[in-house]
Amino acid sequence: MLRYKWRGDDPDHAENRALRTAMHQAVPLIWFFGIAPGVYKPIYPVYLLWEEPQHRQFVIDPDVARGLVAPGEHVAEHVRRYILREMKQRLHQPVFRATVLRAYATRCAVCALRHAQLLDAAHIVPDRDEAGIAAVRNGLALCKIHHAAYDSSVLGIRPDLVVEIRADLLEEIDGPMLEHGLKGRHGQRLMAVPKVRAERPDAELLEQRYATFRAAD
Ligand SMILES: [Zn+2]
Repeated sequence: MLRYKWRGDDPDHAENRALRTAMHQAVPLIWFFGIAPGVYKPIYPVYLLWEEPQHRQFVIDPDVARGLVAPGEHVAEHVRRYILREMKQRLHQPVFRATVLRAYATRCAVCALRHAQLLDAAHIVPDRDEAGIAAVRNGLALCKIHHAAYDSSVLGIRPDLVVEIRADLLEEIDGPMLEHGLKGRHGQRLMAVPKVRAERPDAELLEQRYATFRAAD
């Protein structure tokens, strides 16, 4: 379950009292989830399920676990899996997308296309940690075609951020998408990378994924 910290240490702080009232009245709230200083992804509706005063926090729920869990009660495995899957869809995926697109200034890493409707936040290696907020360092902003090409090992990205296209495609002659969109990127560096070094793709994860690309070649 997700937690939302009290404002300060005083349980009677006006904001904490307001949150408690919202909890008792089951009022739907909007959670402004921070993805960068001063940048938020709104998640709604969310509810406060119960309070953990010893830890100065509320349990917050994007309308997934309400009615299915109670403090200290055992949760059946199939319910647990349902909650994790839904949490991923309603919270982790939108937050991951917003974070990655922000880090890449809303540009495809491979071709620099900058239309959010045509961009995805792709994972470098599959996101196995169901409960975790997927890290931006395991992410790449990619346009739809380059995302599909990356996922199907038509396109690989080396740990030094150079793009490779599968050998057999390089021999092929076809229309502009193949010529410019794919073959034209072969041997070229990524066109968009995050300004902040700590948000750039993790070299070890790229290496791991690149090995899969080479194996498929
Ligand atoms: Zn692209």
